[in-house]
Amino acid sequence: MTFPTQLFVDGGFRDSTSGNRTTLVNPATGEPFGEVAAGGVEDVNGAAESAFQAWETVWRDMKPGKRAEILYSVARVLRENIEMIARLESLQIGKPISDARDEAALGARVFEYYAGAIGKFCGQTIPVSGGGFDFTLRQSMGVVAAIVPWNFPFPIACWKVAPALAAGNAVVLKPASLSPLTALVLAELAHRAGLPAGVLQVLPGPGSAMGDALVRHPRVRKVSFTGSTEVGRHIMALASQDLKRISLELGGKSPNIVFADADWKRAAESSPMSVFANTGQDCCARSRVFVERSVFEPFVEAFVSTTRKLVVGDPGLDETQIGPMVSAGQRATVEEFLKDARARGSRVACGGGRPDGKGFYLEPTVLLDVGRDDRCWREEIFGPVVCITAFDDEREMLREVNASPYGLSGSIWTNDLRRALRVSRAVESGVLSVNTNSSLHVEAPFGGFKLSGIGRDLGMHAMEGYTELKNVYVAE
Ligand code: NAD
Repeated sequence: MTFPTQLFVDGGFRDSTSGNRTTLVNPATGEPFGEVAAGGVEDVNGAAESAFQAWETVWRDMKPGKRAEILYSVARVLRENIEMIARLESLQIGKPISDARDEAALGARVFEYYAGAIGKFCGQTIPVSGGGFDFTLRQSMGVVAAIVPWNFPFPIACWKVAPALAAGNAVVLKPASLSPLTALVLAELAHRAGLPAGVLQVLPGPGSAMGDALVRHPRVRKVSFTGSTEVGRHIMALASQDLKRISLELGGKSPNIVFADADWKRAAESSPMSVFANTGQDCCARSRVFVERSVFEPFVEAFVSTTRKLVVGDPGLDETQIGPMVSAGQRATVEEFLKDARARGSRVACGGGRPDGKGFYLEPTVLLDVGRDDRCWREEIFGPVVCITAFDDEREMLREVNASPYGLSGSIWTNDLRRALRVSRAVESGVLSVNTNSSLHVEAPFGGFKLSGIGRDLGMHAMEGYTELKNVYVAE
């Protein structure tokens, strides 16, 4: 399979200044399959400066209709290349191909949405008390740094790049070291579709040195980051130096709350994939399940039985539901969590081991009797592990739900409308779903409370986040 192996700067591929390269490893086999240039501080300087030039001379003042036309054209070219994008995504991070296809299509859809948003995102006129004429403008910021993780590399890159471009900014995109390929392909296809050179630059490379340089760079006006809470904190501190705008989409420990009055069987059968999809490497993973005690036993039985039937295997096959973990290191981290859980007396209802064969696989694992102070209960595991617990009292359960420092996502299963509304209001979380485990809609805001982040991706909220608000007053 061919793929880009260089940085994408000024409309074309080129090597990094240092000549450094990163080796890519196929998580399904554990074997290296290629190398990609790794950028450094000099490359950040060059890319940020030329992104600024492209913004100032071409993109900022381009007529909105023309900008929309280009973004529609990007969406079309992405759609024509869904299979290629999906195959690369699957190869680099072990994502099952059917999920990778859906996510490639989602990326194209995001470009369509924001192409359409260009003509619908407006300021206001305000009847100020002194008379005259007062209006607001939403203006582009300049250069946006988009820093994205390895778990959903292509869609997250799209949902940062598309609204930032639609709002009139230039973007420097930094993919994670483990997953540079689809970000590079995005830039290549976008330029093929008519995006002017310099408006989107892609710099694969190490987070530490290069990411820091990007966040500190004086040309960068906004940092849009998705990744761990730890790195998010660090970025927030760096950005505070010159008050860069930030949006941070960070970790999670999302609850899945099942009341006895719900269609709990449906909940039990659909919920395993709400935590095990993407091998649990999902910020929205419903990793703590709270089940009302009267249905706890049959719920667990149905949940475990569905989990045992999940198809774990080669991510390149259509029928595979669960692929390998992204790296040996990530699997070792999750195995440490499991060791801790066992040592503290948790019960492993299923999974917990490595299947035979090559690759960084780990079985989907259901834990019961997990203590409230245990790491598995409190921390984001970022692997295929779920804790299921029983509850008796709604208020007490909500206290436990909200005791988590995270607040990204969550599900509520009940057929009582008043309860659904009451609990939706009470859960401290940016995204919730009732009687389904769906977290994400292109048209709706996505982001977290508390340690799960600041700001929102997607919907018109993202457009707000990529603009400055200006007020203009004209005397009568
Ligand atoms: P990470 O924080 O290690 O890395 C994310 C990105 O930041 C990568 O591109 C990395 O190279 C870069 N980076 C690392 N150090 C940096 C630094 N000092 N300065 C600037 N950039 C730096 O996260 P990850 O391991 O790639 O992804 C997993 C995490 O992402 C999980 O915690 C998960 O919950 C979170 N996540 C959140 C969302 C969300 O929308 N809330 C979505 C996906 C993933």
